[in-house]
Amino acid sequence: MPGRHHLFVPGPTNIPDRILRAMLRASEDHRSVIFPALVEPLLADSCRLFGTERGRVAIFPASGTGGWEVALTNTLRPGSTVLLPCAGQFATLWGEMATRLGFEVTTIAGINWGDAPDPAAIEDALRDDPSGRIAAVLIVHNETSTGVTADLPAIRRAIDAAAHPALFFSDGVSAVASLEYRHDAWGVDVAITGSQKGLMLPAGLALVACSPRALAELDCGGARGYFDLRPMLAQNATGYFPYTPPIPMLYGLQESLAMLFEEGLDQVAARHRRLAEGVRAAAATWQLPICCADPRAASDTVTTVMTPTGCDAAALIAHAFTRYQLSLGAGLGPLAGKAFRIGHVGDLNEGMVLGALALTEMAMRDQRLAIEPGSGVAAAQQRWLAAA
Ligand code: PLP
Repeated sequence: MPGRHHLFVPGPTNIPDRILRAMLRASEDHRSVIFPALVEPLLADSCRLFGTERGRVAIFPASGTGGWEVALTNTLRPGSTVLLPCAGQFATLWGEMATRLGFEVTTIAGINWGDAPDPAAIEDALRDDPSGRIAAVLIVHNETSTGVTADLPAIRRAIDAAAHPALFFSDGVSAVASLEYRHDAWGVDVAITGSQKGLMLPAGLALVACSPRALAELDCGGARGYFDLRPMLAQNATGYFPYTPPIPMLYGLQESLAMLFEEGLDQVAARHRRLAEGVRAAAATWQLPICCADPRAASDTVTTVMTPTGCDAAALIAHAFTRYQLSLGAGLGPLAGKAFRIGHVGDLNEGMVLGALALTEMAMRDQRLAIEPGSGVAAAQQRWLAAA
């Protein structure tokens, strides 16, 4: 079909032409004397992205899942216990990885998909652990399956209130470079992100930010191979990598960070908030509930829209793709067939989101949902006009 495809999955996201051009590079020598001129500013800019001056950021050739492994294996003693409030697909997968790596995973009872991690419950769980068995609290900052954002500062306060020594990990795969994130100020010890969402790159880079406390744990005794932070940080300190880095991706990251800083990280977060509010206004007008239980926790990068009984969300998504060139995110895990996700993350503006909402409406009508064409589009427009 002619025209551009409308990519509204919550990652991978659209790659701006500037970044595509920046990545179109001939191969070069990654051990040359000039290579550090690329790497050193890139690492400094990555620290700025995470909001860390005290910590360090490493860039691994991996998707976000690799970042999970970096976080777990580099800072926790083998067999340690981690606390993981689990209310979504990515928390589930992170927990499963931790189990496979030999860690003990403790979850919090009574939390449902669509709920945000409850700081009070985390504080209680830590108070119930006077011997300090829990080595880390694992939080998915933005649960991409349910469209729920965790309150990281409140969770930091909960850990402090319990006076518990656990490290604080954040999975920022669908948060960093799109939602507000302040590594130092929020007292996070290890945060990860992937390149294919807010950073507007292909998948392939996992960025991992470590606090001084996390860095002090690198000799924790965990078995590591490719994802060992120690040789990575040692080589990075001289502007190199311990193995061949994906050089075009590094140029892409350089351009991505330049674009984000030109717009301003606060403005990037405000734009994501604005676009999300339009999508949420559309969903409300369609009278389709969103998965996120507490409106204050609704994600600004992805909205998980529940479809009514009798509507197969998977069929709707397939129809939107083949008939309208619109990619919507699938419902994951128990939400499969019951929800679709509208990703509003990365290189997007109001016009693009309105296009996606209009096509979603048409696809829903084709699937016999009682949706008034244009109603969600108008609701988003009115939301934005009122805010302006
Ligand atoms: N964590 C979150 C919150 C995610 O959304 C994703 C992927 O969408 C991942 C982790 C896994 O990242 P990847 O698919 O890049 O390995």
